[in-house]
This record gives sequence, C-alpha cells and structure tokens, in this order.
Amino acid sequence: MSAKTLKKTGPAGANVRESVKSGTLVEKAHAALRKNIIAGRHLPGEKLRVEHLKRDYGVGGGTLREALTLLIADKLVVAEGQRGFRVALVSADDLVDLSRIRILLEKEAIRQSIAHGDDEWEASVVSAAHILSRSTKAFAENPQDQAVFDEWERRHRDFHLSLLSAAPSEWTRYFLTVAYQQYERYRHMFLAVAEDFYKDRDAAAEHVAILEAVLARDADLAVRLVEEHLTRSLDEWVGYFEKVGAFDSSRAALSAGQAD
Ligand SMILES: [Zn+2]
Repeated sequence: MSAKTLKKTGPAGANVRESVKSGTLVEKAHAALRKNIIAGRHLPGEKLRVEHLKRDYGVGGGTLREALTLLIADKLVVAEGQRGFRVALVSADDLVDLSRIRILLEKEAIRQSIAHGDDEWEASVVSAAHILSRSTKAFAENPQDQAVFDEWERRHRDFHLSLLSAAPSEWTRYFLTVAYQQYERYRHMFLAVAEDFYKDRDAAAEHVAILEAVLARDADLAVRLVEEHLTRSLDEWVGYFEKVGAFDSSRAALSAGQAD
C-alpha cells in the first residue's frame, strides 16, 4: 500500500504532497534500518535483499534503495556493484582506526567546549552526568535487561555529547556523531557476547572524574581523562574480538543457539 501512494499520478499539487511523503518514508526507512544495523539485528556482512526488506519494513523498492544509499554514506552498508547491498563488515582494525579518530576529535571538541562553554553549558553537563549515574546503577543491577541498557546507552551518549556541546566547530561535532553510530554498533555486539561488560573498571568513577575536571575548567586534565576512558574501552573491545574471532553473519546460527 505504501508503494502505491508513491506513484506520481494526478495533479501537480498531489505530486508535491507525494514527494514530501516520499521523503518522510525514506527518512523513516533509513532510521529503522540504521537502528536495526546498529542494534545487530542485521549482522555485519548480511546480504540486504530489497524484496525481503520491502516485506519487513512495509515500504516500496524505490524508498528502500534511497534509504540504503543513505546508509552507504553512514558507512553502515556497502554496495556490491549490480549485486545489491550488504551490511558493512566490522573488524578489530576498523575499531582501532575508528577509536583513534574519535579520541582525536573528542579531545579537540572538549578543549573547545571548555574554552567557550558558559554557565548553562556547565549545568547541562552536570544534569547529563546526574541522570547517567542513575542509569549506571540500574544497569549494574540488571546488566541483561535490554530496556535498562538502551536507557543507559542513550544517557551515556548524551553525557559524552554534553561535554563537547559548547564546541563551536560544527564539523567536529558532525564527524563525532557519525563515529558514535559506529561505536554503538560495536558496543551492541560486545554486549551480546560479554557477561563481564565494564566489570573490571569503575566507569561511573571515570565519568565523575571527567565531570570534575570539566567543572574546574582544567582542559589538560579533562582531555587526558577522556583519552584514558576511551582507550580502556578500546582495549576491552579489542580483547572481545580476540576472544570471539568474528561478529559477521556466519555467526548468526551460533548466536541464535546461544540466545536461549
Ligand atoms: Zn563514558
């Protein structure tokens, strides 16, 4: 039914409405697919067949192809010439590369933010840290609860984003947003295989130390603490890669078997 509404027939006014609707459908399909790739419901390397996706997402082929093109720009999907689309692969090398760039950009953005941030920015950082601390407690008590994890993840991202939200460089913040999407995909994969996620470290204390350095406007200390915080996560995650070996679609049957 959705595909039918996209047919460009009728008077010019109708076409305008349809193109607006079409844009909305593409955005919705893009957001839904992106969410499912990041959450690992479409595994790395998985072939994305338009005819299957049409059924699963309830949109037409044209809409899906546009959404998939946007996902190529997100580096979450790769095009295979005439043969269609696949979910982008993951690897330890990719993760290390991604992390290095994220750390570089985040350090720069925090430095800018501390130099330019006003009292309201400080208040937004304090607020983000406070609600993250509530979620961190809930997550520690219920590490396998998906809803608790989703909330923790959102608040964790918001805290890190708040640290650099006063940075005037829009490009820095844009590239970091792209990097965070990729990061979330890795985090979801590791959470699926790791029962000891964040167990060997006090991530809450690390966040508090970062908050205090930011409030003291000590840019050198804040930058060093953020680098240590992110490097610890990277080391932990590379360790999971070594343990698990692969996270691609060849593991799908194995993962399904482990789920119960
Ligand atoms: Zn963190």
